[in-house]
Amino acid sequence: MQNINDYNNYLSKKTAELIRENFSTKEITNLLVVKTGQRWKRTLGHIKTLNHKDYGSLIEINPLLFDLDVPEYVLDYVIMHELTHYFQGFASNQERKHKHPHKGGVVEKELARLGWKEIQEKSDKWIKENWSKILVKNNLNPYKKKIRRKRIIRKSILSFIRLFS
Ligand SMILES: [Zn+2]
Repeated sequence: MQNINDYNNYLSKKTAELIRENFSTKEITNLLVVKTGQRWKRTLGHIKTLNHKDYGSLIEINPLLFDLDVPEYVLDYVIMHELTHYFQGFASNQERKHKHPHKGGVVEKELARLGWKEIQEKSDKWIKENWSKILVKNNLNPYKKKIRRKRIIRKSILSFIRLFS
């Protein structure tokens, strides 16, 4: 794969496949867009509303996950994490299943229920051990902290996969 368009096409196909295989009893009820985001150092993916939840949802995936050294199951896992938020009613118009997107390990529990426990554990381990190497390989300094600006709370972004948290 060469460029962002290839990545985005791949993400669309992959997401459709994951929905068919894992959420076959559910339906997509608003516009769902999946595309590459930024080369974030500490976020692998997120989901946010597009204009309004009744209109659409946007999942953005860190393009560093397309690095050939990243196992494919890690990318699958990140998409599954965001899809779980979608179907639990976060940043989508689905019925909201929980008060908070992460509290109580609701994503982990749902992924385990769907048969993804092993991949999740394997991915978390891989990320912990290898992510900083991926950053270095892609000319990003894993240690340098960004200058802290005043915290802007962006309400539309409801969830992130944060590293090391
Ligand atoms: Zn999350």
